Amino acid sequence: MAGERNPPGWTRREALQSMALAGAAAAWSPRALGRGQRRIGVALAGLGHYSRDLLAPALQLTRHCRLAGLVTGSPDKLPEWQGRYGIPDRNVYSYDDLHRIADDPDIDVVYIVTPNHLHKPLALVAAAAGKHVWCEKPMAMDAAEGAEMLKACRDNRVQLAIGYRMQHEPNTRRFMAMAKERPYGRIVKLRADAGWFGWRDGADGAWRLDPARGGGAMYDMGVYCINAARYCTGMEPLAVQAWDETARRDLFKGVDETIRFRLEFPEDIVAECVTSFGRNLNTLQVDCERGWYGMSPFQGYEGNRGRASDGTVFEPQLGARPRMQAEQMDQDALAILENRGPRVPGEEGLADLRVVDAAFASARADGKRVEIAQG
Ligand code: NAD
Repeated sequence: MAGERNPPGWTRREALQSMALAGAAAAWSPRALGRGQRRIGVALAGLGHYSRDLLAPALQLTRHCRLAGLVTGSPDKLPEWQGRYGIPDRNVYSYDDLHRIADDPDIDVVYIVTPNHLHKPLALVAAAAGKHVWCEKPMAMDAAEGAEMLKACRDNRVQLAIGYRMQHEPNTRRFMAMAKERPYGRIVKLRADAGWFGWRDGADGAWRLDPARGGGAMYDMGVYCINAARYCTGMEPLAVQAWDETARRDLFKGVDETIRFRLEFPEDIVAECVTSFGRNLNTLQVDCERGWYGMSPFQGYEGNRGRASDGTVFEPQLGARPRMQAEQMDQDALAILENRGPRVPGEEGLADLRVVDAAFASARADGKRVEIAQG
């Protein structure tokens, strides 16, 4: 998916867009919020592509939260970020001194947007500091790490929400409802493909090609297939077979470029999936006894649209990026303000990681059927 790539810097267009969004946010009057409601203060941890181009601009559109802090290992980025978003020095942290955030009354949430190997360690520090944790997908490197994060958040009585933005998108929410309603009868088969073509000109030290930092297509895009297969069926898969079909072995050393996998669900439902860093893939289809429905794209930042066999059309919802991320963060902020669980809790990330663990085990054994641990 093009949106997942890492552009070199702020373009003029992005800068203007970001200034316009900041202006729109400034126009919000506190009176527009419910009486007594405050905005949730969010600290972004990791100031790369997704934070810079999607989440920070989206925070300017939210009604219930605001960008209140920065956590980074790259102090050189701070002048631009602090200037752009008006973040004072007292709300700025490095990864090493993040524990100090416990004493920062301006911050309610640490949103972890770093390479995947840092999700768990940063979540543990944030939770111990008494801050709610929002964490990007994949939740962690494996299910054991995910379980540790859940425990830490429970023990410290803070929320843990996973950044599965699609679960906040209305067409996707309709598909989730259809898992129960079954308007086309029993689900027979499902197909979910998610990928983007990367690295035409070499690796350039990219963490997405590094096994130690959580690289590979499965962690990055395969979790969209797994999550979609789970939310479209409303069930947990029982077993998986996976095949590593990496073609560019010179680039992909110890990480997967392409994995094809097959999930077995209860009721004999099968999900066929492909995830890749070598092909642009963005399709979801659900085949049922009496028809089908699908979306393509199904995990884009915008324009997610679909059709069904009876002529039903699912028009794109929410508008242009970064509306989906704004909706996600507003929902997660409301969950905190109203003291109820988030829409996409840590358990969702953990369930996907159980599938990822089993898929990697199967791929290592040339497609051997591996049963998936049940929660
Ligand atoms: P990125 O490479 O653009 O940014 C990563 C940031 O982490 C950089 O600011 C980098 O300086 C910092 N960092 C800290 N320690 C690092 C280390 N050891 N190696 C490399 N960078 C390090 O990545 P990104 O695209 O912003 O992705 C960050 C996270 O967000 C990932 O978990 C990714 O899966 C997730 N993400 C989610 C979506 C989505 O649609 N939900 C989209 C893109 C990325």
